[in-house]
Amino acid sequence: MSGRVLDGEASVESIPERRPAVRPEAAPGPATQDTGEIKIWRCKVCGYLCARRAPPETCPICHVGRERFEPFPVRI
Ligand SMILES: [Zn+2]
Repeated sequence: MSGRVLDGEASVESIPERRPAVRPEAAPGPATQDTGEIKIWRCKVCGYLCARRAPPETCPICHVGRERFEPFPVRI
């Protein structure tokens, strides 16, 4: 009998699955905070599209500056 109790205690240690449920509260932070709104940006030179709050510094495809990007009217 007492052997079974020990088994029970041993299995208590294998419960840590519950612990990872602790969420870092900072997780949903910056993405929803500052200006927040995600837009689609389109490179007018090569047609590259990306979804973010501001156009990239330079196009990763053709390397033009962000002034060549325009907001692309699309719903996410
Ligand atoms: Zn481009």
